Amino acid sequence: MGFLFDWLLTLKCNYDCGYCGKGVNGNIPGHDNSRPHPDVDMALKMLEQGLRYVDTYMDIKKPNMRSAILNIYGGEAVYHPHIEFLLTKSSELYGQYKDKWALTRQLTTNASCGLEKWKKISEHVEYTTFSWHSDGPVKLKNNFVKNLQYTHESGKRYQVVVLMYPKAWDECLYTITHFKKRGYNVRPKILDGDEGVYTDKQLNDLAQFFPEFSSEFVEKNKGKKIQREGRACCGGKQMCIDRDYKSPVKFVERQTFMGWNCSANHFFLMADTDSQQFYTNKDCWVNEGTTRGPIANLDNMDSYIEKIRDRLSQGADYFLTCVQKTCKCGICAPKSVSKESLSDVMKIYNQTLPA
Ligand code: SF4
Ligand code: SF4
Repeated sequence: MGFLFDWLLTLKCNYDCGYCGKGVNGNIPGHDNSRPHPDVDMALKMLEQGLRYVDTYMDIKKPNMRSAILNIYGGEAVYHPHIEFLLTKSSELYGQYKDKWALTRQLTTNASCGLEKWKKISEHVEYTTFSWHSDGPVKLKNNFVKNLQYTHESGKRYQVVVLMYPKAWDECLYTITHFKKRGYNVRPKILDGDEGVYTDKQLNDLAQFFPEFSSEFVEKNKGKKIQREGRACCGGKQMCIDRDYKSPVKFVERQTFMGWNCSANHFFLMADTDSQQFYTNKDCWVNEGTTRGPIANLDNMDSYIEKIRDRLSQGADYFLTCVQKTCKCGICAPKSVSKESLSDVMKIYNQTLPA
């Protein structure tokens, strides 16, 4: 686990997927074409603040844990009219930290633009997450395939994530099989929300990717919103339960951690340039209070960073107390009922021991 800094660059998108939420103010991650593209200077200021915030947490991490991912996404980030300029600037703003910690710029995209634009964008990112949306127009999905082939052949790092849409099941399965045959790095992603409801056949199909989907699991969860039963990590990581490091799982059969101590603040930050608010991440809205909401906004982020720096200088045992009913992105952050136990687990990551 490194640090994931989500930089949401625009809510506009050229697709309209059946499972995509309305993204106003990050309320439900998704898209909203009625919103303007965020202002460039403001987006860069939020990036600068975000990198400074990441740096405060890097100071307490062990040297081999000091790496971060800047996830650039939307809506569809590629359609921000100044995307290339923003990406160039991201490299400049990171410059002052490059001797302290590593940053990988990751573009999460439907990759539906033309190949020439794609080649230019690719020059500015170190990693691409290609999101395959079965609901996209055929012509644009053809662009996806061409762009993916280009990235694969260029030797750049990437992954393909197929959003497993129950209403386009055969296409989703075919896409995974077909891309695997071509040697592409591909995996399925289970849907959150109302559309993430799978039949027993579909859950059985998914069992080849998620060993936890036993026949009992399928029988219990068919026809139910899967997010009510548990979650897989968005990044495809394996997770451990009760510190059983020898038996990692891909799907945790639990979705609520209300009242638990959680280290999501040590691993996540989201800058929503549409609402100009910062959150723990796109799904975890827990802040240090007892309510859900942003941790800071564009205007008070500077003082918030100083507050966090002061707090961490007193000891790394600064965690969230979960007040959210369903844990989605953030499930992979170490968490425990007891603060002492979580502090102990976090010794894997942090050099400063709890005060
Ligand atoms: S490509 Fe992504 S942001 Fe756009 S409509 Fe589909 S799910 Fe929503
Ligand atoms: S929602 Fe998940 S990531 Fe957020 S504080 Fe709760 S347990 Fe942690």
